[in-house]
Amino acid sequence: MDAKHIEHFKQCVGVENVYDDKAHLIAYCYDATRTRYQPDAVIFPRDENDVSVILKYCNEHRIIITPRGAGSGFTGGSLPANGGVILAFEKHMNQILEIDMENMVAVVQPGVINMALQKAVEAKGLFYPPDPASQEYSTLGGNVSENAGGMRAAKYGITKDYVMALRAVLPNGEIIRAGKKTIKDVAGYNIAGILIASEGTLAAITEITLKLIAKPKMSQTAMGVFPTVNDAMNAVYKSMASGVTPVAMEFLDNLSIRAVEQKYHKGLPIEAGAILITDVDGNTQDELSAQLDLIEKAFHDNGCTAFKRAQNKEESNALWFARRNVSQCITVYGSKKLNEDITVPRSKLPDLLAEIGKIAQKYNVTVPCFGHTGDGNVHTNVMVDGSDEKQLEIGHHAIEEIFKATVALGGTLSGEHGIGLSKAPFMHLAFSDAEMELFRSIKKAFDPNNILNPSKMGL
Ligand SMILES: Cc1cc2nc3c(=O)[nH]c(=O)nc-3n(C[C@H](O)[C@H](O)[C@H](O)COP(=O)(O)OP(=O)(O)OC[C@H]3O[C@@H](n4cnc5c(N)ncnc54)[C@H](O)[C@@H]3O)c2cc1C
Repeated sequence: MDAKHIEHFKQCVGVENVYDDKAHLIAYCYDATRTRYQPDAVIFPRDENDVSVILKYCNEHRIIITPRGAGSGFTGGSLPANGGVILAFEKHMNQILEIDMENMVAVVQPGVINMALQKAVEAKGLFYPPDPASQEYSTLGGNVSENAGGMRAAKYGITKDYVMALRAVLPNGEIIRAGKKTIKDVAGYNIAGILIASEGTLAAITEITLKLIAKPKMSQTAMGVFPTVNDAMNAVYKSMASGVTPVAMEFLDNLSIRAVEQKYHKGLPIEAGAILITDVDGNTQDELSAQLDLIEKAFHDNGCTAFKRAQNKEESNALWFARRNVSQCITVYGSKKLNEDITVPRSKLPDLLAEIGKIAQKYNVTVPCFGHTGDGNVHTNVMVDGSDEKQLEIGHHAIEEIFKATVALGGTLSGEHGIGLSKAPFMHLAFSDAEMELFRSIKKAFDPNNILNPSKMGL
């Protein structure tokens, strides 16, 4: 990039808020995909006005600009794939602006860490449920832009269910407001809805208004053991259709159970086809017990051989241990995991897991699966030797077939990680030409010069 542009940015936001030295540029060239693209500069806007000034300048000079939260994305959304400038919200725009107790709403800047908001509202007896596993470091701007979900999604939904309003800056520097603090708002197009999960391709989000709810007083954990993964998958949707909505309903298949046991020796049931771990919540113990009774019955009706209820926090943590640690353990099956977060309607989970089994056999690859079955979201991990080109190629073919099977079952390429760069080649499997053209025309309406995070989402 021409040095005069960098000088201009420094004049706009202050020398200390523009990095263009090699060490910092390297530090900002990655996300959780570990793919690397180096930016030409990293800019830390101090406020919405800075964002507006920078975007307007970039638009006029056709400089590519990529918004970034914590860089914890799993699909390359925050990577400057075409160089240009990174707009990083973590340094200054990280304040909780308001917790409005009367309307049960929080107003935050995009750089606020998810957990910081959870803690702040819980100190006031309120609850912000979306809890991605990256909650300790991912930002709410990133969560909105990827529509992040977490363990509690089965009962409480995902980020989009809590976004009431957004402020954002368009690529031409115009500031817009979408939505209100009101529960009902049907005036005009749902622009906030379009910005959610738009992966920084349409506008830079500068303020987020989030719905809060009352915090349930207590929760309880239970675990069911199943002889086959098919039994467990049937138990997921049949228990949830029996009139109980657990906070979480997570699963580990046999390969995942064995991987955790191999590393941590916790006495897990290594012969089981799968385990399901569930949490229920409420305000009285009777409420919790009634929910667990329903789940236990549905589990037993579907082949469950053992059902354990945690009696205290320690036992709850012990039941959750395998699920919380499984992701790092499965590397026993290969140095590289081709990890996807496919999602199907819950009743299709048995079919999906059967299809994955067939694909694993066809390509002779190991595919441990675990995840958020309560919302139909399965983390499939095709494990390969990352240094072996042939294995990588086979792994990618297996992934493509898994995507095809998912779409055929009425599912989606991504339940929470987004499309970014890594899933862009597969968009044609899920969307028709007409649908992709509609996406492109939306992108053009917001960003006619294609300066904001181009080449993401297959656009
Ligand atoms: C160990 C681990 C566990 C994870 N677990 C989960 C999980 O359980 N659920 C889940 O959903 N995800 C999970 N993720 C993925 C990731 O944390 C989420 O996608 C998260 O929402 C990204 O937030 P971020 O602040 O890191 O955003 P980044 O990665 O920095 O950016 C993500 C996207 O948002 C855009 N963006 C960021 N800020 C703005 C803004 N202000 N305006 C416009 N666009 C913006 C970026 O351009 C990019 O496209 C996990 C990641 C890791 C590493």
